[in-house]
Amino acid sequence: MCQCPIVSTGCQRLEVLQHTSHLSWRVRICADLATPRLPREALDGRAHWARWAWRLSDPWELAAKATKMFSDVFPDVRVARGDPVEVSYWLTRNMPLGAGARQELLAAPTVVQRLRALCAALEAKACTILCCRVCNTQLAWIEEVLAMTDDGTGGLFVNPSGYVHDVVAVRCGDPEQERINLIGITSSEHSWFPGYAWTIANCFRCGSHLGWHFTALEQQLPQQFYGLRRQALKV
Ligand SMILES: [Zn+2]
Repeated sequence: MCQCPIVSTGCQRLEVLQHTSHLSWRVRICADLATPRLPREALDGRAHWARWAWRLSDPWELAAKATKMFSDVFPDVRVARGDPVEVSYWLTRNMPLGAGARQELLAAPTVVQRLRALCAALEAKACTILCCRVCNTQLAWIEEVLAMTDDGTGGLFVNPSGYVHDVVAVRCGDPEQERINLIGITSSEHSWFPGYAWTIANCFRCGSHLGWHFTALEQQLPQQFYGLRRQALKV
């Protein structure tokens, strides 16, 4: 029988109500409300509140602010444009955060709260350093995050066994710096990045599986980078 794993990229939140079987859940879709523009009265200064006060709760303003802050940190990554809801999900997907921190962003009940949390995280440089989730070994700095896919700084990839990995691409230091151990042989089979071979990468200190080291098979490509599993990281 042919197995055909399907991977979807989430752009909407849902709440798991019941785990009914190994591959079956009952869920509730958490719909985001439409994001209106500021009322005309606010734009032309006739509203009771000053324009700057309106702007604190304007999803379009917040989306523009979060986008600019993200671009200042990652100038090489092309940020999605459009409705604030889409922008908020794109930024949440592409912030180099661990799974727990990203879950907190997704728990924000409205787009305004999600965008405010994103701005706060960027302002506080909450994602400055990526660490091993188990032993806190520092693995990469935020400046080392790369845009290796059209989707941004990483993406969802499925291996031949059907396991889905949420991977963030980074240009972190070499294994000699006692951060990452490369394990086993290098292979180009089923590589998620065309033109690259992969080697398993584990934490140097605790041995947990961090992701993979990718090395270019063609000269014109960036020569190496790491694809780190978001589940293995914390910030
Ligand atoms: Zn570790």
